[in-house]
Amino acid sequence: MNVSENLAEIQERIAKACEKSSRNPEEVNIIAVTKYVSVERAREAIQAGIRHLGENRVDGFLHKQEVIQEHVDWHFIGTLQSRKVKKVIDQLDYLHSLDRLSLAKEIEKRASKSVSCFVQVNVSGEESKHGMKPQEVENFIRDLKEYPSIQVIGLMTMAPYTDDENVLRGCFRTMRELRDQIREKNYSHAPCNYLSMGMSNDFEIAVEEGATHVRIGTSLVGKETV
Ligand SMILES: *Cc1c(COP(=O)(O)O)cnc(C)c1O
Repeated sequence: MNVSENLAEIQERIAKACEKSSRNPEEVNIIAVTKYVSVERAREAIQAGIRHLGENRVDGFLHKQEVIQEHVDWHFIGTLQSRKVKKVIDQLDYLHSLDRLSLAKEIEKRASKSVSCFVQVNVSGEESKHGMKPQEVENFIRDLKEYPSIQVIGLMTMAPYTDDENVLRGCFRTMRELRDQIREKNYSHAPCNYLSMGMSNDFEIAVEEGATHVRIGTSLVGKETV
């Protein structure tokens, strides 16, 4: 399947999920995750109408950005090591993986403009996943006030790899409640309106539960073996 056919199918599935949950599909941004694919394939996604690209590694991110001239928003979705902050922080439009104060500190030191961040939450409690524990998120975000370069625009999570719909739905719902809880505080440094959640195998449930940014790789652009 080519990217534009994949995109049409994904958009249709998002529209259905929105209908089921009385949401407006325009609230859902599709980020094409291009980490597995070539620049050519990423360009196909842009030609198909994609306006957001996501990469999870610094080198891949910088490479794609260097060769892709089209105007898109650039999302850094992977774990960011503090020592690599200076290489990418002024190049990205959105950071999805803010998960510790030491990273906030480094961003504050290196960024020359305001950085739109999602705080990454490990909602399933799996050892292998990055992100803060849900019960730590509120204090963490309160403390980010000390770092004026950081704007917390939302929360991000990776759900566990499972087909169990109840488990997935539970994770996404916890995220929405957490987001609402923080949004109610009306912090000027943390409007926290957005939810970055949902990947190829779970985006419909994520959308039903309130995702505003879905990060889709495999089922949109595919996976090329290198
Ligand atoms: C790879 C990746 C995705 C996309 O995964 P697919 O299952 O291929 O859709 C989304 N989010 C993050 C953080 C990723 O690393």
